[in-house]
Amino acid sequence: MSRDELHNLQGRRLRKLVDLVYHNTPFYRHKMQELDLVPDDIRTIDDIVKLPFTTKADLRDNYPVGLLATPMSEIVRVHASSGTTGSPTIVGYTHRDLEIWKEVIARALTAYGVTRGDIVSVGYGYGLFTGGLGAHYGIEHLGATVLPTSTGNTEKHIRLLRDLNVTAIACTPSYALYLAEMLRNQGVSINDLKLHTGVFGAEPWTENMRHEIEEQLGLKAYNIYGLSEIMGPGVAYECNCKNGSHIAEDHFYPEIINSETGEVLPIGQEGELVLTTLTKTGMPLLRYRTKDLTALMPGICDCGRTNIRFTRILGRSDDMLIIRGINVFPSQVENVILEMPEFAPCYMLVVDRKKNMDMLEIQVELRPDSFSDDIGSMLALRKRLVERLKSVLSINAEVKLMEPNSLPRSEGKSMRVIDKRVLV
Ligand code: ADP
Ligand code: ZN
Repeated sequence: MSRDELHNLQGRRLRKLVDLVYHNTPFYRHKMQELDLVPDDIRTIDDIVKLPFTTKADLRDNYPVGLLATPMSEIVRVHASSGTTGSPTIVGYTHRDLEIWKEVIARALTAYGVTRGDIVSVGYGYGLFTGGLGAHYGIEHLGATVLPTSTGNTEKHIRLLRDLNVTAIACTPSYALYLAEMLRNQGVSINDLKLHTGVFGAEPWTENMRHEIEEQLGLKAYNIYGLSEIMGPGVAYECNCKNGSHIAEDHFYPEIINSETGEVLPIGQEGELVLTTLTKTGMPLLRYRTKDLTALMPGICDCGRTNIRFTRILGRSDDMLIIRGINVFPSQVENVILEMPEFAPCYMLVVDRKKNMDMLEIQVELRPDSFSDDIGSMLALRKRLVERLKSVLSINAEVKLMEPNSLPRSEGKSMRVIDKRVLV
């Protein structure tokens, strides 16, 4: 589609979207009324700048389903991702939303060269996260064979990769490197495998990691980007040019803003990615602030696709950590710690990557009256915290109990996260 046709299509879809949320989502009606806006004020895609932003805090304030634009009876699937504090972020999909999601994933797979003849193993987590089920249905929709391996079965995974002649794999880039190491440990050569394509996303990675993965797994590695608030994986994807990820712009309208001022930046400038769901009907969002830092790329890609590209995700404008593909906010850890009276509000998160696996160590100070020489009671306390963290964060953290007043104190803003991972 030419850029002009695409802009017209985006404009028509935006008008419909604004009509939908104005009449069906009180949150947006109120926000538009505050700005003195009615749906008729939105005529072309360029009018999008008049509309209000949406943030993760808005999702939290409307927890669990206050942002739906349809009755719950129209929602056929729910996913949840990490919220910044206690409650998770809930997203709901109508049947039509799921059709679109499948379609964009199938497009991504096609861009990577995956066809119905392929067998694709999905090593993203299945369940409340969008990665597993999102990729799964897209692969089926394309007509390829899906192997729902999920996370944490590496030995069986390797066996199935070999025995079934699996040709493509979808997982986090760090898991791909971990898998490569496990293959070496088990004496499996890449010549025993038939992998030719990797679909990697859910966390930041680099060009160097791409080369490593391609070499170690003997495949071509492509980026896939997404977030549950907008849809899940498939919002953007690379093509065989491997030069930026194409946004499925007929469904997700991108803007880049200055994250401090909210000002929209021209193409080419780095800032925060903002996305509007042009076609979603379950939980459509206007100008959602992703907090992901990137830049839109000018020009048309050599592959011929006319939809715009963004560069690799360069970082975050908030403090969210991505640990083994799972979003973790330091505030969530703090909430869990403060639920337990034995702990002082003094803690430190140390993140590292050992053998391509992310590790989270949480050092937390005991209150003086809870500190004891009784090892049994200290171990039991640590276990309680580990379990509680596991149920809230969905990841295993290593907890280190610290003596009262042992962690460094700072005057201004306290340094609570040490991220030792170097993505080179
Ligand atoms: P997912 O299950 O895809 O990780 P979440 O909603 O849990 O979805 O997390 C979305 C966040 O993950 C994004 O905002 C971004 O920070 C990060 N992310 C997802 N895909 C990529 C990618 N390809 N490159 C860098 N970061 C990514
Ligand atoms: Zn391209």
